[in-house]
Formats: sequence, structure tokens, C-alpha cells
Amino acid sequence: APAETPQIVVDANGLPYLDKRLPIRKRVADLLGRMSLAEKAGQMTQAERGAMTRPGDIAAYDLGSLLSGGGSTPTPNTPGAWAKMIDAFQLRTQATRFQIPLIYGVDAVHGHNNLSGATVMPHNIGIGATRDPRLAERTGAVTAAEVRATGVPWDFAPCLCVSRDERWGRAYESFGEDPALVDSMETVIQGLQGRANGKDLDRADKVLATAKHFLGDGGTAYGSSTTGTYTLDQGVTKVTRQQLEDIHLAPFREAVDRGIGTVMPSYSSLDIVGDGKGAVKMHARGDMINGVLKDRLGFDGFVISDWNAIDQLPGDYAAHVRTSVNAGLDMMMVPYGYKDFTATLVDEVKAGRISEARVDDAVSRILTKKFQLGLFEHPYADTRGAAAIGSAAHRAVARQAAAESQVLLKNTGGLLPLKKRQKVYVAGSNADDIGNQTGGWTLTWQGASGDTVPGTTILQGLRRAGGDVTYSKDASAPAGGYDVGVVVVGETPYAEGVGDVGNGHSLSLSAADQAAVDKVCAAMKCVVLTVSGRPQLLGDRLGEIDALVASWLPGTEGDGVADVLYGRRPFTGQLPVTWPKSQAQLPINVGDTAYDPQFPYGWGLTTLTHVPRGGTAALRDLGARAAAAERHGDDRTGRALVTRARLLVQRHTDGHITAAVAKPFADADHLLLTGRYGKAVQKLTDAYRAA
Ligand code: BGC
Repeated sequence: APAETPQIVVDANGLPYLDKRLPIRKRVADLLGRMSLAEKAGQMTQAERGAMTRPGDIAAYDLGSLLSGGGSTPTPNTPGAWAKMIDAFQLRTQATRFQIPLIYGVDAVHGHNNLSGATVMPHNIGIGATRDPRLAERTGAVTAAEVRATGVPWDFAPCLCVSRDERWGRAYESFGEDPALVDSMETVIQGLQGRANGKDLDRADKVLATAKHFLGDGGTAYGSSTTGTYTLDQGVTKVTRQQLEDIHLAPFREAVDRGIGTVMPSYSSLDIVGDGKGAVKMHARGDMINGVLKDRLGFDGFVISDWNAIDQLPGDYAAHVRTSVNAGLDMMMVPYGYKDFTATLVDEVKAGRISEARVDDAVSRILTKKFQLGLFEHPYADTRGAAAIGSAAHRAVARQAAAESQVLLKNTGGLLPLKKRQKVYVAGSNADDIGNQTGGWTLTWQGASGDTVPGTTILQGLRRAGGDVTYSKDASAPAGGYDVGVVVVGETPYAEGVGDVGNGHSLSLSAADQAAVDKVCAAMKCVVLTVSGRPQLLGDRLGEIDALVASWLPGTEGDGVADVLYGRRPFTGQLPVTWPKSQAQLPINVGDTAYDPQFPYGWGLTTLTHVPRGGTAALRDLGARAAAAERHGDDRTGRALVTRARLLVQRHTDGHITAAVAKPFADADHLLLTGRYGKAVQKLTDAYRAA
């Protein structure tokens, strides 16, 4: 940035809105009453920090917000550099009439993933696999503490997408395919923001969170492969009104109840069957943003657009601005187009095509959050928490999350856990690659393979666990003498779009991975780990594999994966999405009428030692007790009883899953999440009988 010296010429002291003792409502009203239309337009504008070649623009355009977007590279890579950068921008706001602080936002979607040395959590799909709401909350708390300590008060997370087709390139940003599962993981919002009333937002270890992407981002259709158009990302979600309510809206209802501070609409279009509107871009759907989100659900935070999303609306630029603001968008992410946006917004208001009342409502919502965050009192970074970034305590949370997210899909002969005396042969493209293990949205938008961020790879974790380990990435010499092979395969990083484009949108293993699996599994008993953002298709190869683990994108703590592999912790993870048999089965989801997956939603073997004994009589007893627990509102007991029943069924089926087993088993997990414990055990009993 050019060395302009900012001049602080303003002293707003003494004005009522700066009086901390006044209720926020009054402070907002006082400030709003003083602001010009141009100043209000500025508050509604978010620019990309990469566009700030002239930081003086912050004051000149009264910008309300800046972001470091996914595509913003290179990002600073020390906590101090982040804080310094943001403080320098913030200083510019102090040269404006009312010294309204700007609010800085980043995508910290699995820890403070923009910062080298930060604690990188498993991506959401792995968090969903843990089925552990308290752990989800703790991951949010660690993320918030690390983000705020670098001067960033706002996080564009969590994604509340309900992923209905895993060919979608954002499937890993989803907690899973069942809205009840997504709901249960929204404890992460409390971890990020603190209490639902917003009273913790001014803490130095909390951030404003964003529920994204409203509405139906995870439901977009694949489109026509014959025309070569792949529309899984940013495409059209075509649903009935009931499906919209039950599948895609449910998580946002939950988020509003939890006091979510901001909501980001989806790039996708929504086509509600029978409403006569056809496919309409979400950024233009006033019926959903004003009508449902704000009016019906009572959302009182502010709505931030997605990156340049208004440019996808029909008509000229004035129409983009008018349509989106009138639909209920409060702040616009117009990364490089902030000048056009503010000017056009002012013109549209002057022409009477956007009402001043609409603008006042938007600005009030934004200012309310700035007051709640304490930014007027403390505009600059409070970096006292920076010492905790990447600390042992934070990494312990990520390690636990990595361990709990591992889903044991198959374990013939009890091959896992490994024993220390065994000689282990490790191979595969993702055994020793921290970049692949952390996935997209890590240091850069798309992420990258290789040595990107500090952490431990799965191979390092196995070695640190004291294993007798030999490693060869491409399995070049799996000669005799080994007890077990561990082949770690899967995807390379990607973000948005349709995923691994190089792999032809396919969920199949790469040729190199297939070869590694074949070589190792032919030579010895073998465990295969898939490090990937979604299920991987193994086809007939599954027969050669003795044990199979879905590792998802476990983050920086390979030790957590080693913990379950060596039995320091039991496997407890459950599938957050259905694991298909073939590409042709997609989309496949729990609740489908024809449901014949490879592994059903909710599947996950355990290496817990206390697996219950018994048959249908035991299940009948568990069912009666679960129903009683449900009547008494005793969730803890209810859940524990269903878990026991689940383990019983899994032991009985021993990994042989037919459609008749898969369906009731998957349904049981949904019932469990919605608190219907008695029915859940009944379903499990059906699965037991069918096995
Ligand atoms: C993504 C959002 C993200 C934004 C800012 C967009 O491309 O869809 O999820 O918050 O970029 O980086």
C-alpha cells in the first residue's frame, strides 16, 4: 500500500452513541440520525482487502467492512501481521466524521485456516461424523479465540448446507445429509459467538458467526451431463415447499434460535415446485430473505451477500443493486466494485427505487452488531490471546475431533486397532501429506498438496505413537515380513465447484491409489484410509480390503488418526452421509424409498471393548427403556440406549449390509437425532431381524 499518512482530524467524543452506558438500541438510533445517505451506503459495503491499493478509500467511501476472501493471496502469515494489517485499515475509519469502526471478516471454516501455525480442525463433514455436539462447540471456541486474537471479529462460518449429492464440490463443508444432524452440530455457533443474546461478542475470544448459504446450497441438481453443464455448485435447487422446510430451512431455524449474527445467501437458485416463479437466484428472493428469514423466523442480525453474487442477477447493475437490497440484503460483498456499489445505491435511493427505510433498517442491523462486538470501544486488535494460537491445548481439541471423526466402515477379523508389536507397512498418496489432509480453505482458497501448514501427518502420527512403521508412498516394495499394511488414499484439495475436476467429477480413486491398494492388499492384511471430502468408490476392491476407515479431511492433527488406529481411543464416528456403491446411485440419501448403499447413513463400527450381548429380547428391553427415557425427557439415557442397540446390530451384521438392513439402520440415526429413542430402537430391531 502506498504510504499515505492518515490524519485523524475528528473527535466524536461526547456524542450519545459513544456512551457505553446507553442501550445499544439508543446508540444505533442516535448515530443513524446523524448519518448522511452516502455514509449509510458505505456501511452497507464490504470490499476486499486486496482491492485496497488506496487505503484512503476506506474513509473516502465510508466503507463499513473489509474481508480477506478465499481468493485473497498471499495472506499475512503471522498473528502479528494480521493484527497490524487490520489495525492499519481501522485507523482510516478514525478519519471519518463519526469514526464508525469497520468490521473485518474471513472464512475460518475449520479453524483459523488463513494463518500458518493455527490449529486446523477437521472439515465439517468430519465434525458431523463425531455426532458430538459438545466437541463441535469446543472446535468453534478454539476457532473464535484464534481468529479474534489476530484482530478479526467476524467469521463467515458455519456452512449449514445439507449436502444431498456428494458430487458437489462443497460436500465437505456440510455436517451431513440429514438436517437433524446439521441442527445438532450447530452448537458450534455458541462456540464461536458465545451466548445467543450476543452479550459475549465483545469478548476477546469470540467472533460474529455467519450461517451460510441461505437457502438450499446443498440441494443443487447435477444438471445434464449430456450438455456438459455441471450445475452442482451455484446451480438450481428444485424442491417442494415441504422439502424446503424440512431439509434446507430447518438448520437456519435452529441458527436463528441460537442467535446467529449474520446470514449469507447462496449463489444458487431456488425453484419451488408449484409456486410459478421458476428458478430464482437466492440473492433476489425477497420472499425467502425478507419473508421467511427476517419476518417469519425473526432473524435480527444482518444479511451479507456472497462474493460478487449480485452480479449474477438479471438486468443491469442498478437492477442488481435494487433487487438485492430490496430482497433484504443488508451488506454487499462487492470485493473490487465498492465504488460502483455505493454510488449506485445512493442513486437508487434518490430515485425512490429503494426506500430510505430499507437502508435505515440495513444500517441499523449492521451498527447493532458493531456495538455488540465492542468495536466502538475497542476498534483495534486485542492480541493478548495470540499466544494460544496453535497451542497444545487448542491442538488437543483438534486431535480429539480428528479421532472422533474417523468412521470405521469395515473391520474384518478385528484387524483394528493395530498392535504395537506389529510390523506396519504404510503407503498411499495421502499418508504423509499435510496439504491433502487439511483440504481446501487452508492457507489458500483451493488449498494445495504438500507441506503447506505445520502439523502432523498420519504417517508422523503413527510413528509418534511408537509404531514399527515402514513407509513407501507408491508401495514400491511391499515384500514379506509385514503384519499389516495401511494404505492412505483419497483426494487432493479443492474448494467450491465440482471438486476434483482432474478426476472427472468422479468419486473413484486415482490410478496411483488403486495400484497402491492392490499391491499392499495382495501382499498382506490391509487397512485402507480414505482422506477425502466425500465418500470414495472402491467397487470390487472393497473385497480385498480387510479394514476400511473414512478419515474425511482430519486437519493438522494426524496424531488423532493414529490414536484410533492404535486403540488409544475407540472408533466411535458414524457416517454423516450415505456411502454409495457406485456413481450411478448418486444422489442417495437416508429416507430415499429405494435405499441400497454400500454403507448406510449412520454406519460406523466401534472398537469399544464393551459391546453389548444379546438378541431380539435384549433389543426389546432396550427399546422399552429408550421409550421410557424419551417420555421423561432424559436425552442422555435415551441416546446411550440407542447407541447400545446400534452396536448390537453392527456386531450381528458383521459388515454385511443389505438394503433391508441399511434402510432401518439409517432411519434409526435420524430418529436418534430428533429425540425419538423408542422408535429408533424399533428400527434397529428391524435391521437386526433383516440381517
Ligand atoms: C464463498 C463463500 C465465502 C466467500 C468469501 C465465496 O466464494 O461461496 O462461502 O464466504 O467466497 O470468501
